[in-house]
Amino acid sequence: MDILPGVRQFEQGRPLADQLKVIPAAPGSVAVFFPAVKEASGLRFHLHGPFVPELSRASIREAKANIPLFEQLAALAAQSLHRIKELGLLTPEFLFLLPNPQDQLPPRYQRIRTAIVEEMKSQPLTPTHDREHAPAGRLIQARASLKALLSESDIEFLVDHDDEPPLWAMGATQRNSRIDHFLSGLDIREWGPDEFMETLREKASDKEGLLSTEPDEAFLSWLKRKSPPWTQELYALLHSEARDRVYQFRALLIVREQEKILAELESRDKSAVPDRPLANPERRAQNVREQAVKASDKESEIRQRSVSIGREEVKEQADTYLREHYRNADGEVTCQICKRPLPFKLDDGREYFEVVEFVAELRKRHPQNYLALCPNHSAMFRLVNGSKDRMREAFQALQGNELSVLLSEQEKTVYFSKTHIIDLKAVLEAERSLPREQVLSEDDAVGLVAHD
Ligand SMILES: [Zn+2]
Repeated sequence: MDILPGVRQFEQGRPLADQLKVIPAAPGSVAVFFPAVKEASGLRFHLHGPFVPELSRASIREAKANIPLFEQLAALAAQSLHRIKELGLLTPEFLFLLPNPQDQLPPRYQRIRTAIVEEMKSQPLTPTHDREHAPAGRLIQARASLKALLSESDIEFLVDHDDEPPLWAMGATQRNSRIDHFLSGLDIREWGPDEFMETLREKASDKEGLLSTEPDEAFLSWLKRKSPPWTQELYALLHSEARDRVYQFRALLIVREQEKILAELESRDKSAVPDRPLANPERRAQNVREQAVKASDKESEIRQRSVSIGREEVKEQADTYLREHYRNADGEVTCQICKRPLPFKLDDGREYFEVVEFVAELRKRHPQNYLALCPNHSAMFRLVNGSKDRMREAFQALQGNELSVLLSEQEKTVYFSKTHIIDLKAVLEAERSLPREQVLSEDDAVGLVAHD
């Protein structure tokens, strides 16, 4: 045993586990009253028994008389686990010193390993994810992300079991560590994303394996109880660990609400604007407001017949701005309405998108007041936009990342990155502080110049 860090002195009466931990012997020795110095058990703990030794007393003789002693030692080792657990010393770390399947043990010592493994499988001795102990036979194993997502009551509902509901096993923090090897020797059932998907499919399907229009009632109510953030995590997990199965999961989502949530998530995922967290959103908004107040005025430009220059410059800035904000995880610029990569590239290799003015009735031109749209959605947004007149109000009241718009009498959403929202709200605020004058939309302004 070793003293735990921070313990200065052993105190009688204070729980052992608060002061000490069990450490492995390297190597474990075997003693017949005195250590048999040449006897190697391959174990990480010491053994003692009244064995029949070789004449030299340095090793244990291969004698019939010794067989019952090995059997008794195996039983004793298994029984000791209960006492160790009572003392609070059967920790995940303790598994390090137990014999695992990779350990090279001489045949007569192997029964000790077998007895320990059998005891851990059938008795409440194996450390669980929740720092309790349970028979390994009752445990299931998965990556930490799935364990975090599915609670004990979730897996009780999802995982087939006979009498006692399954529990999450502790995870080995390191692959191929002694603890990992020991846990593998316990044959803990693997229940990862694949099994999870399979279960979801079973629950949502009828007996012929086809997607049923009336899936399992209990399953539906289970799924309905889940919050949107939960579904979001689930989706993220499936996306990272079972990418090819996501489409199957989609097919399962017969539950309307869930389907809606997922559609939102998926579009967010596609546009995957790596919504960088802003260190100081207030300062950013302040800067944008200051710039917005100084921005070039649409009307004065018209008077000076320089509208095309000012407009093109701002549009160029907007182009750069949008390219930066609407690039997905694959590095492609996406349309803010269909949230898909743009349909084609220009000869210079850059994606083609249309820089479309968002709120028309502003006095000044701001690079933040534009959308990145594919040609199709650009046309729809400009020509058949049923929400055109209430765009400003709707944006000011926007919660989340998607703004509803009615295009060609269809409900669509415009996706905005967090930063774009902060910037554009600052722009609208700055515009409100300007003296009210006649304002012109981009298209009106162009029309005016053309007829000038
Ligand atoms: Zn589009």
